[in-house]
Amino acid sequence: DSALVWFRRDLRDTDHAALHHALKSHRRVFCAFVFDTAILDELADRGDRRLSFIHGSIEELNRALRRRGGALIVRHGDAREEIPRLALELGVAAVHANADYEPFALRRDDAVSGALGALGIAFRAWKDQLIFEKDEILSGAGKPYSVFTPYSRAWLKELKAADLEARPVEGLPGTLAAPPSLPAIPSLAALGFTKSPVLLPCGISGARQLWADFQNRIADYARTRDFPALKGVSYLSAHLRFGTLSIRELVRFAAGQKNEGAETWLKELIWREFYQQILWHRPEIETLSFKPEFDAIEWESGAQANDHFAAWCAGRTGYPLVDAAMRQLAASGWMHNRLRMIVASFLTKDLGLHWLRGERFFAAQLLDFDLASNNGGWQWAASTGCDAQPWFRIFNPIAQSQKFDPEGNFIRRYVPELAGVPAPQIHAPWLMSPQQMAATGCVIGHNYPAPVVDHAAARARTLTRFEQLRRAD
Ligand code: FAD
Repeated sequence: DSALVWFRRDLRDTDHAALHHALKSHRRVFCAFVFDTAILDELADRGDRRLSFIHGSIEELNRALRRRGGALIVRHGDAREEIPRLALELGVAAVHANADYEPFALRRDDAVSGALGALGIAFRAWKDQLIFEKDEILSGAGKPYSVFTPYSRAWLKELKAADLEARPVEGLPGTLAAPPSLPAIPSLAALGFTKSPVLLPCGISGARQLWADFQNRIADYARTRDFPALKGVSYLSAHLRFGTLSIRELVRFAAGQKNEGAETWLKELIWREFYQQILWHRPEIETLSFKPEFDAIEWESGAQANDHFAAWCAGRTGYPLVDAAMRQLAASGWMHNRLRMIVASFLTKDLGLHWLRGERFFAAQLLDFDLASNNGGWQWAASTGCDAQPWFRIFNPIAQSQKFDPEGNFIRRYVPELAGVPAPQIHAPWLMSPQQMAATGCVIGHNYPAPVVDHAAARARTLTRFEQLRRAD
């Protein structure tokens, strides 16, 4: 009997739960990937970098599966129809996939499972992208955690060697199979997209390259991770998003290292799981505040708010580190975590705009976009989320800049207008005298914008906005 493994956000051929289980219980195993029109049709940008990343990654996955005697069957259409149709064509008894916990994916998988069921074909979704899923980590009272520290403590306590064992694809009864005639993988153009430069190496080999590099730097992570001008972080987020490497392998390594860097990094991987379980338990937070009382906040709207939003998106707020960060996102599809916190705080607390506007912009731009982490990060910064920054704690964008990019090296990399401005002035260049502006080649209001808002005034408005909510209680 045979089975089909449906690849989604797990684009690798090693340590793969669905592939492992399919090969364990079926004689012949086919593999497929669907360029899902239900997702692709929603993408506004025909040059979306994620398509280039995924396309490169599935080509490599196909080569890897071919070396194992199989192949990747690639379809373009609505997955809810393509998967049952393909399963029927191949005559398989079951479809195996790795679980995806996003509300859209759960609805899709329900539909696919229903359609397969009507054909007498089983659907199995395996845990693969997380160490602990759904309600595997609950508080003593049997409730999901909404505070990170106790969640993280419970997560570490629960962790056993078996959770981290690889799900091998070798030495199992089944073998990979390929249909006798298989059309070539459709080109990006055939899918209606154009190729975009992806600065990150993609695919299984790209993941291995970045991971090998980070293993040499992990001990320094705690010391360097907050400074965007330094190479301190792993740059693995897009690979974790698309599953080009296994979370079990990463956690196994990090948990086996006894140094502060590895311990801190492991905590970040636990944040990823924390936000996944939050979204699983509270899917409505996709558009609503985790703390419902904050849905009554009156965010700024109207023409000026729209102008401010446009300036933020374009990296032209007049706050150098905010602008450098937004330009890093535009140039690469990635932004450093410290900067994500700073620009999210700036949008919600300095510009007074609804966090969803920023969250949706990030969703369209980020190569590593992940609904759970993105929503979690935005609601954290906006103070509407679980275990969020308290609302009265407001990042000062100038102080953040002085602290985390003290020399202005990161700013100069992305904001060439400020290339000639020395370090003490670069964090608030509008304070330069006309003579200094002339000498540094940065004339505020001429070749670099004046700040779109005054931070002290904006801060006071935000405090009032949140206090009003408290009074309304
Ligand atoms: P590293 O520092 O090397 O961390 C390793 C991994 O841990 C990351 O790849 C990621 O999977 C996980 N991780 C790290 N920090 C967090 C965090 N705060 N929350 C959840 N997981 C974390 N991360 C995404 O993967 N997708 C997103 O869409 C996303 N949106 C964000 C939006 C905002 C407003 C904020 C504040 C954070 C967001 N993050 C998101 C979390 C974090 O910024 C990125 O995961 C990180 O910058 C990716 O770079 P890295 O892989 O080098 O991270």
